[in-house]
Amino acid sequence: MSHPPYLWLNGDIVPWESATIHIVDARELSSVSSVFEGVRAYWNAERQQLYIFRLQDHIRRLLGSMKVLRMPPPFSVEALVQATVTLVRQNMQREDLYIRPVATVAPGPRALGTPADSTNVEMLISAAPSPSSLSLDRQRHVGVSSWNRISDNSLPPRIKSNANYLASTLVATQARVDGYDGAIILNTDGKVSEGPWACVFLVRDGRLITSTVTSNILESITRLTVMQLARDVLGLAVEERAVDRTELYLADEVFFCGTGLELGPIVSVDRYPVGDGTVGPLTTRLRSLYQDVVRGKETAYLDWLTPVY
Ligand code: PMP
Repeated sequence: MSHPPYLWLNGDIVPWESATIHIVDARELSSVSSVFEGVRAYWNAERQQLYIFRLQDHIRRLLGSMKVLRMPPPFSVEALVQATVTLVRQNMQREDLYIRPVATVAPGPRALGTPADSTNVEMLISAAPSPSSLSLDRQRHVGVSSWNRISDNSLPPRIKSNANYLASTLVATQARVDGYDGAIILNTDGKVSEGPWACVFLVRDGRLITSTVTSNILESITRLTVMQLARDVLGLAVEERAVDRTELYLADEVFFCGTGLELGPIVSVDRYPVGDGTVGPLTTRLRSLYQDVVRGKETAYLDWLTPVY
């Protein structure tokens, strides 16, 4: 398998091959108690520039996830931002990337429940090629999952922990088995929460609607981006509120949003066609606007981009 030449590990750029872990350690609790981020970088061929999208915001969220898990951060936000840029430069990557910063607890003998301390928190950053799907015409048929979303008082969705993604895997696998391309999950109040790896937006009567941050969602950076672009550029009214399941069936447009998935149009929910069953006009406009913003073509939002070169 091809891979980039380097990754960043605990403060150093190290050759990919040398960053190994013993199988026994890999299977240890450390992988359950790790937190991570998913960040995208977009290549702008005209400017021969690679832009990392909202890197500071992702690193801040990572440190928030670490705080909830009581992992003292060995590096500052600024140091991790710089480490990410240095890594990508060292790899000489000049294409769309998916960057994955991870914080974990070093394997070793530790009584269950002992909080991590400054000696055993480990951090890793890797960056792999990952072409954007924003120019592809992908449409999703999704179902409302019979699984409930995990919740703040048990496995908090607000932090991006590896353990949370077991719930996402259950949902996504069930959706596939049931013949869908994806799923929307309800929280234990029966309101729309999010997808297994993305937040959800609806358009009804020209208004953009999304679940609140207290609906057991990840506080998505793409969600904030979409809300701001919809208000600032398209002049849309944006509502953050509890969303009912049947609103999905009556919506004019529905789409997922997230770093990895970007803006993903949904054309049916539980086999009810969304609107006329094709990708709606606001979804199309927001996707193309998002594409311009992340590639640095919309100059009003250059503050969100970290240029690598
Ligand atoms: N919800 C979940 C469960 C996710 O995994 C993701 C992807 N990180 C999102 C929402 C979207 O978050 P973001 O826009 O910050 O990538």
